[in-house]
Amino acid sequence: KEVVVSGIRPTGFLHLGNYFGAMRNYVRMQNDEKFNCYFFVANWHSLTTHPDTRELQSSVHRVIAENIACGLDPDKVALYIQSDVPEIAELYLYLNMLAYKGELEKTPTFKDKVRLQPDNVNAGLLTYPVLMAADILIHRAVKVPVGKDQEQHLEIARNYADRFNHRYGEVLPAPYAFNYGGELVKIMSLDGNGKMSKSENQMNTLYLADDADLIRKKIMKAKTDQGPAEPNSVKPDYIENLFTLMRLVSTEDTVAKFEADFNASSAGNVVIRYGDMKKQLAEDMAAFMKPISEKAADIQNNKELLNRIIRQGADKARASASATLKLIRSAIGMDYS
Ligand code: ATP
Repeated sequence: KEVVVSGIRPTGFLHLGNYFGAMRNYVRMQNDEKFNCYFFVANWHSLTTHPDTRELQSSVHRVIAENIACGLDPDKVALYIQSDVPEIAELYLYLNMLAYKGELEKTPTFKDKVRLQPDNVNAGLLTYPVLMAADILIHRAVKVPVGKDQEQHLEIARNYADRFNHRYGEVLPAPYAFNYGGELVKIMSLDGNGKMSKSENQMNTLYLADDADLIRKKIMKAKTDQGPAEPNSVKPDYIENLFTLMRLVSTEDTVAKFEADFNASSAGNVVIRYGDMKKQLAEDMAAFMKPISEKAADIQNNKELLNRIIRQGADKARASASATLKLIRSAIGMDYS
């Protein structure tokens, strides 16, 4: 079977970008005979940007609960917490010796973070892609279901696998980003600026836990314009984004109607009514989110269940991780006993 790995940082409530870019694929992959799946809560990664850990435990539980509410089955996959698998930290150490400072400094995500938190440019932030490579390579994964924002990190992970193999012998397969649709997904923020994310402006992010009123409020404020200048225009990013969200939660007929209205519109004859489209999208979105948020809240309150899931996940993940680490130590020549 092909090994699959992916993780989510416990930096807040999960949003539609996480769902659409990552979790939707997790659920499909767990039910696909071809795959052996490892999904984790990236709590070490969250320390690079969120050093205050007072909320961390409940966030970790929340991410697990939301993953299960979206359909992940802890009996079918390994669902674990990153810090429960110390083998990852050992591989991170080895990979750090193959990672170069200049290269890491050029990573766009690092440059973004430096702009966002100039007073806390810690080494963990710089070596984020190294830890991410360790997360993936520790299970010798080949497929990584992630959103478009992670594409570059996958390229870095492939470089490290390649360098390791070159220096110590073939141990690590090359991992690739994966989405069932082919193209990786990027859900934009509702104001049309950048990607939707957990820690950015909350009014521009649709969280799985949002109630119907809040969903309506956020979607009605989403960026639109006066409509296309001519029939069959290319949609601007922020309009395409609304259609993308609609394709996720509305019926095909609904999407087709608004697509047709858009294509028939021109400056002198605006058929598409974005107000109606957003109203419909808000209703369908609220109906989509309700069962997920209710189920997630139930699971989060069930500490016994959560503990069982966490223990079970850690056991599965450590079994796989320690097997890889054995191969790695032996390739490096660090198997002394
Ligand atoms: P933060 O704001 O704390 O950086 P985040 O929302 O960017 O968090 P991550 O935990 O970094 O989320 O990412 C979890 C998964 O969700 C990754 O696979 C990532 O590619 C995917 N993802 C996050 N945001 C989006 C988005 N807007 N569109 C598509 N996929 C996304």
